[in-house]
Amino acid sequence: MAISVGTGNNAVSSKESTVRLRVPVKHEDLHEQYAQSRARLTQALQTSLELTIVLEIFFEHIQKLVPIQGFHYGHPGKNCQLQLGRDGLHRLNYRLNTPKDNLGAITFSRGKRFTEVEMATLESVISTLVYPLRNALQYRDAVQSALRDPLTGTGNRVALEQTLERELSLAQRNCQPLSLLAIDIDHFKRVNDSHGHASGDEVLREVAQGIVAVTRQTDLTFRYGGEEFVVVLNKTDAEGARVIAERIRLFVEKLRVETHNELLQVTISIGVSSLQAEEEKNSLFQRADKALYNAKRNGRNRVEVAKADQIS
Ligand code: GH3
Ligand code: MG
Ligand code: MG
Repeated sequence: MAISVGTGNNAVSSKESTVRLRVPVKHEDLHEQYAQSRARLTQALQTSLELTIVLEIFFEHIQKLVPIQGFHYGHPGKNCQLQLGRDGLHRLNYRLNTPKDNLGAITFSRGKRFTEVEMATLESVISTLVYPLRNALQYRDAVQSALRDPLTGTGNRVALEQTLERELSLAQRNCQPLSLLAIDIDHFKRVNDSHGHASGDEVLREVAQGIVAVTRQTDLTFRYGGEEFVVVLNKTDAEGARVIAERIRLFVEKLRVETHNELLQVTISIGVSSLQAEEEKNSLFQRADKALYNAKRNGRNRVEVAKADQIS
């Protein structure tokens, strides 16, 4: 592995340190302490595949060797960031690259300047992170692709189930509103029949991207089935959800999808439901679906909101 020291700016003039230094220990004790700590860290890092947990373990253990205040991990390519502790004025940046993989970058920081010995210790201990980090990143990729719809890049049905369960219990615990949009492209069969399946796919992609762009809810838009999408709107009541649904409907109405020198135009129908007291996931979902059915029946290209007393 190549650990490359990035734009480390350990030379920034320090404010008074807030880090309490340890009582000095004899050199051989330090060596023994370091070896034990490193062995414990190697073992501990093997106990999880979850990226956040792996990094938390690393941060916790490394503080026993070198007092640091802040730890940052970032991997822009994987859209992943984590900050632990408080960021300090003096920073050491390390890019973690193996011949095969880019594993992101870590930054240690604190208010007091790092010594040469501390830097050498940190650089040596970083190597224990490489394989656990690579495994955690691979695990994260596998989990994400199992939860993503390959055509549109939105979440799939499995992801929807998980998200809905989580958001529902959060909403109930915190007494916050939660709404659901069930979205279906109107007469989509005709698009396929008249312009071909590939053009239909392009329409699906662009409608999905439009929904994500309008709602700014990247992680909360799901492809439920063929040309059906579901959006989970946390902290949003029925009126707020209706406004967002109308915005999505209008966006799609204005959308022109270019395929094979043709400009395709589609519309969508949307059913909205908002969580009632004591309501369960299935009921919330069925009410959105029923409202969607009403939107279709009432002429398509429209939004219908489920009535509050329609708990099923
Ligand atoms: P409605 O307005 O009542 O919703 O009519 P519709 O034609 O949209 O609904 P219907 O359920 O009759 O047809 C849905 C179509 O969606 C049929 C199917 O071929 C198409 N479809 C489902 N999945 C995909 C896909 O992944 N790609 C493409 N291109 N078409 C798909
Ligand atoms: Mg449908
Ligand atoms: Mg349809």
